Amino acid sequence: MSVMEMSHRGKHFTRIYQETVADLRELLSVPDDFAILFMQGGGSGQNALVPLNLIARKPARKADYILSGHWSNKSYKEAQRYGDIAIAASSGDEIVVDGARQDPWTWYPTPDLWRVRPDASYLHLCSNETIGGLEFADWPEMRELGAPDVPLVVDASSHILSRPIDFSKASVIYAGAQKNAGIAGVTMVFVRKDLLGHALPECPSVLNYQPVAENDSMFNTPPTYAIYIAGLVFKWIKAHGGIAAMEELNCRKAELLYSYLDSSKLYVSRVHPASRSRMNVPFFLRDETLNAEFLAQSEAANLLQLKGHKAVGGMRASIYNAMPLEGVEALISFLQDFERRHG
Ligand code: PMP
Repeated sequence: MSVMEMSHRGKHFTRIYQETVADLRELLSVPDDFAILFMQGGGSGQNALVPLNLIARKPARKADYILSGHWSNKSYKEAQRYGDIAIAASSGDEIVVDGARQDPWTWYPTPDLWRVRPDASYLHLCSNETIGGLEFADWPEMRELGAPDVPLVVDASSHILSRPIDFSKASVIYAGAQKNAGIAGVTMVFVRKDLLGHALPECPSVLNYQPVAENDSMFNTPPTYAIYIAGLVFKWIKAHGGIAAMEELNCRKAELLYSYLDSSKLYVSRVHPASRSRMNVPFFLRDETLNAEFLAQSEAANLLQLKGHKAVGGMRASIYNAMPLEGVEALISFLQDFERRHG
């Protein structure tokens, strides 16, 4: 019998489920006061579930959002249906940093620029902007921002398991599995337990963190096969040295690629160096008329999916945990070769 045929309540799947949760808790050192939920609906689902579950924590029904690119803007827009939603900070403007012009959505507003309302029910941050290629992992203490009772909610969809997480700084963290934890269909949600039980009355029960937590993510049939695959990936990460080893390798991969791009005369990375993502590396050919030729030749060299998202243009190399160092080295030698021929 394959996992996809098993009853989710039978002893075989129960064992798979329990091991999967225990491995995830161990890998990320998730403290006991956090519940780990496996839900459906992806990161986009959480854009609605976060306000549905948290905005009624305080009577004012307010929530604040940091806007840093495509995904945080989507979260912000979705939340509008549920209360008084404000922008705490945004990188949607061009700024000058250290004398150089920085385009909109190519930098993270630093915490000193965040204006958080102390009576907000939560503050939302997307810690890795997948399309823009930005990463912000050094989360501030909400106390330091003058908002000690505003829990930080983080969309970590596109860099979960690539580096450690500081659970003392965030109160809810969510991430779809499909980047670093297997296949689409399951969403990991880490919720500090004191935040359970505040859902709006109209929140559907299957989407309410509290009954989902109380029932070990089995309030209804969970996506068993996606959970099984995530469990295999967690074991693979453990066998390869855990999160510390993932982080070390991801740093090496990203440093190699960015340092080549910075040394090149043909390509350019437009993200501010302090905000560069280790997972998603957008870059541009200075002569954009070469884009089509670049893509055709990279594909012929078996370097696939390098075309940037249409919102940003250019190219993007996504180098998640599953991309080996050799893959990044192969990309760099192609980039060098293309530059030699067109420089
Ligand atoms: N947030 C981020 C940061 C993402 O990268 C994505 C998907 N790429 C989403 C949310 C949306 O996830 P899903 O498609 O699983 O709803």
